[in-house]
Amino acid sequence: MIEQAEVSLKDTFFAFEKTALINQQKVLQAFRDEKVALRHFAPTTGYGYGDEGREKLDALFARVFKAEAAVVGPQIVSGTHAIALALRAVCLLKPHMRLVSGSGKPYDTIEETIGIAGNSPFALSKQGVSYDQIELTQSGLAIEAISRAMEKADVLFLQRSRGYAWRKSLHLEEIEECITAVKKVNPRAIVCIDNCYGEFTQSIEPIEIGADVIAGSLIKNPGGGIAPSGGYISGKKPYINAAEDCLTCPGIGREVGSYAAVYTPFFQGIYMAPHVVCQALKGAALFAKVFELSGLKTMPGSNDNRDDIIQAVELGSREGLLTLCKSIQSCSPVDSFLQPEPWDMPGYQHQVVMAAGTFTQGSSIELSADGPVKEPYIAYIQGGLTYEHCKIAAMEVIKSLLEQKIICL
Ligand SMILES: *Cc1c(COP(=O)(O)O)cnc(C)c1O
Repeated sequence: MIEQAEVSLKDTFFAFEKTALINQQKVLQAFRDEKVALRHFAPTTGYGYGDEGREKLDALFARVFKAEAAVVGPQIVSGTHAIALALRAVCLLKPHMRLVSGSGKPYDTIEETIGIAGNSPFALSKQGVSYDQIELTQSGLAIEAISRAMEKADVLFLQRSRGYAWRKSLHLEEIEECITAVKKVNPRAIVCIDNCYGEFTQSIEPIEIGADVIAGSLIKNPGGGIAPSGGYISGKKPYINAAEDCLTCPGIGREVGSYAAVYTPFFQGIYMAPHVVCQALKGAALFAKVFELSGLKTMPGSNDNRDDIIQAVELGSREGLLTLCKSIQSCSPVDSFLQPEPWDMPGYQHQVVMAAGTFTQGSSIELSADGPVKEPYIAYIQGGLTYEHCKIAAMEVIKSLLEQKIICL
């Protein structure tokens, strides 16, 4: 069955490999242009004044993403933190700004930052930012409705990846069309993109099609499975400067910040990222194909274009979801002997089950699977540092779904 799937995915795999080559070339060129040297990996302590590693990593990411500036590294604790910083940086530039999400409800963990969940006095809504949300349609972004809303709004937020939703990821062409339409009616509009899971899935990134700020996590695509933690924001200089003030404080910005371990894994991570993302994309397409051959509903389909590394599959039952997650966990290199259990994860509005037998805690560029424990019991599978691991996992998952009679062939 796996062999049959691989044969039918030949052209799809070839396209992923082509993208990886373009991205590897781009990343390598950025290293050369920035003259990255061994001394940039050295640790620092205390204030970290003149920390060359921190400065070089920021400059490298800016170059890779074709942005004016970037803030990258372990001082940003996660993707959520990066996105929250980006949103605060652009939404609090002046009083009473208006924020519009053009891709429907944002990722769960962003809700409390905006103020549509929770009750923090530091939510944007409590700081005088108004919020509106335009739902996605069957075909994607409702560009006309978004443009109309943006006539009177200041910031447009778009989430590129499907996240935990049964929806399509946004293709860059569609995002570009939307940005062009919005900037036509409101040239001062600031476009901010949640780029999580999207990095290196295509040969260009959102800044190149007109986005002003992008943000994401280093324990996903751009960390290449090697960065131990962290996030990044990159984009136009004034917004990055504002993000630096939000990250530390006004007057200090990015002048301070040390890291007592070596910076090597952050540099090596982005260097590896184009290849690792390609491995994950091939793994995702393989999972899609074997699920389709088993009669399950998948999103995206096995031969669809991919703008993120996530493969969603509808299991239809709690037992199916748990079986899949247990199977992914049991063939992981780390913690293979543990059984994932549903839990109330901070930042999420319902119970979530997660399989992550990863070297880095919660890293989802490593092969992992998770899903909210609610109907119709959809599992989201992502990552895979090597395609071979994905292939072995696909075999094991199908075997356990068969044994549990979740599927029959
Ligand atoms: C993972 C993710 C986030 C949050 O990142 P964390 O590192 O988990 O905080 C936000 N948006 C999307 C689309 C994501 O996939």
